[in-house]
Amino acid sequence: MSDAAGSLAGLFDPDRVAVVGATEREGSVGRAVTANLLDGFDGSVVPVNPNRDAVLGEQCVASVADADPDLAVVAVPPEHVVDVVRECGEAAVRDVVVLTAGFGETGAEGAGRERRLREAAAEHDLRLVGPNSLGVMSSPPGLNATFGPDAPPAGGVSFMSQSGAFVTAVVDWAAEAGLGFKNVVSLGNKAVLDETDLVRSWGDDPGTDVVVGYLESIDDGRGFVDAAREATDDTPVAVVKSGRTDAGAQAASSHTGAIAGSDRAYEAGLDAAGVLRADSVQELFDAARALSGGVVPASDGVAVVTNAGGPGVMATDAVGDAERLRLASFADGTVERLAADLPAEANVYNPVDVIGDAGVDRYRDALDAALADPDVGSAVVITAPTATLDFAELGDAVADAAEEHGVPLAACLMGGGRLTAARDALRERGVPSYFDPARAAGGLGSLMEYGEVRGRSYPEPEPVDADRDRVREVLASVEERPDNRLGVEAMGILDAYGVPTPEGAVVDDPTEAERVAEGIGEAVVMKIVSPDILHKSDIGGVKVGVPVAEVADAYEDLVARARSYQPDATVLGVQVQETVDLDAGVETIVGSHRDPQFGPLIMFGLGGVFVEVMEDTTFRLAPVGSAEAEDMTADIDAAPLLRGARGRDPVDLDAVVDAVRRVSRLVADFPSVVELDVNPLVATPDGVRAVDLRLTVDPEELDS
Ligand code: ADP
Ligand code: MG
Repeated sequence: MSDAAGSLAGLFDPDRVAVVGATEREGSVGRAVTANLLDGFDGSVVPVNPNRDAVLGEQCVASVADADPDLAVVAVPPEHVVDVVRECGEAAVRDVVVLTAGFGETGAEGAGRERRLREAAAEHDLRLVGPNSLGVMSSPPGLNATFGPDAPPAGGVSFMSQSGAFVTAVVDWAAEAGLGFKNVVSLGNKAVLDETDLVRSWGDDPGTDVVVGYLESIDDGRGFVDAAREATDDTPVAVVKSGRTDAGAQAASSHTGAIAGSDRAYEAGLDAAGVLRADSVQELFDAARALSGGVVPASDGVAVVTNAGGPGVMATDAVGDAERLRLASFADGTVERLAADLPAEANVYNPVDVIGDAGVDRYRDALDAALADPDVGSAVVITAPTATLDFAELGDAVADAAEEHGVPLAACLMGGGRLTAARDALRERGVPSYFDPARAAGGLGSLMEYGEVRGRSYPEPEPVDADRDRVREVLASVEERPDNRLGVEAMGILDAYGVPTPEGAVVDDPTEAERVAEGIGEAVVMKIVSPDILHKSDIGGVKVGVPVAEVADAYEDLVARARSYQPDATVLGVQVQETVDLDAGVETIVGSHRDPQFGPLIMFGLGGVFVEVMEDTTFRLAPVGSAEAEDMTADIDAAPLLRGARGRDPVDLDAVVDAVRRVSRLVADFPSVVELDVNPLVATPDGVRAVDLRLTVDPEELDS
């Protein structure tokens, strides 16, 4: 994100635009963008080209300074771009769009060029889009500063895309899909302005009803979260995030690291940001059309009104399958009213079937009754082509009903050319229409989801009392290690943050082991302590239920096992630990992983030795407060186990929540903790106990 962002009005609403590198050469970017700008822009367009008098009939000037524009669009060859951008800065032109490719996307030379471009932009505080951008579009000024083939219809959607191809594809499809755009930005390489700047700017733009993005990466995760949270108070934000690769996962040495991967970070980050995540571009724009209406359903109950049985059943199923929707159940008064207004063969319960011979009036009556029902928050109106309907009139009637009742509607027009008049009328009035009932339900589901995030508050996580000096000391001990890993010998950091651990100690001789065991009780747990052994039980390095009399022998046996597994393994000793009653408990895992974009994540899930097999886990950005931690415990599939399934007593959920919250604060407080597993955190009806710990520390970050 750039400090220069602020208002982007100069970018989207300039009076004068210069095209640097304007030309008439057929097939060139410089010609295409000049032609697009000359077509329909309210302001003036000045071609900059020292070698020509005029381009496409417009008088040329020799330099940016001579053009004196509000916005400069740069389409010169890559080796000249940095100089041109400098000239812009010197001429006090702050808004620049660089279309030229051949930067970071092309290898070392290009990366160097991009770095110089970034420096030049920073020096002059430029708001720069690109390089390698298709350009920007903006209505109302009718600005098409792209080299794409068409401009989209005007409207309230602001769209940013990390792929130029998606811009042309979406623009081409927009008219047919009933989409209108306020601003469109092809982000290109994001050398200066990025998704965070645009979300911030569009969140404040009264002309933007909904922000949508096609993103391959989010550069400053936490900045994006802050910007999006603010925007979503009154403007919904929806994105498709593509590129679900988990390159980071292979290198991980913890369970959490192995499961985390970048997609889990994006999931947690976008969720924390209140951003709706779509799985496909179609879903993204289905959501955008629904969200453009701006009315959020007051209830999750959906009414279905149809003139055909089969599609009605499909819509009913789609509503039932949608996470946030259910079929509304009508009040008696509604049913009576429908029965009075509709013919005897009609179905007056939800889904309402007005029957194939219905005219527009019958739809009107059905909608008036259904939308007035107290359980109805939104509705799907289905039409199959029949000879009895005037489709333009129907479109208007549906839009009127939505307006009068203040209830969002999604139309399902199950046909092609015959329904064009209805489609046009609905588009004109801002009612989304779809072919498929499942897509209509998806659109309404997005509205419900936006209603949820809009109402969200983001309380500061509660503070945690902790002995931070003690943690600092334990973490610093990695400096004496050949690798950067710590195990159960570092359990003190959990004590320091108030996470309960069983009684125990790490000892380095058998007699000492016996002494500790005697202090603990009848039978103890013993574990090998070695930075070379990641999963202790895999090599028989954990003994449960060892009687005190056998502790010395068990000590020797554990060391021998470590040696036979890896002869040169560093053995720090053996941990002697109080036995925790697993029969009454559930093994959970609390973990953390530091994501390069979103920072520390906290994970909670079903723990034990099969974590990666089950992958029943959930992630949030750390730190979390109690409310969020509680949410996490409810999020996993195994949640019923915690609440006491099959006659077992429920575990102490407050203690689980508290432990999650405390670990999340620990990793947020100490950036040197790269990844961490508390596995298991044993949860019983009487509380929790962290019986195992493993973490990776980055020595470079120890001082931060
Ligand atoms: P690792 O994960 O390296 O194999 P753990 O310390 O997690 O080693 O021990 C493995 C398993 O042994 C745990 O998942 C748990 O089932 C059991 N276990 C470990 N410590 C105790 C303990 N103090 N009380 C009861 N069971 C334990
Ligand atoms: Mg373990």
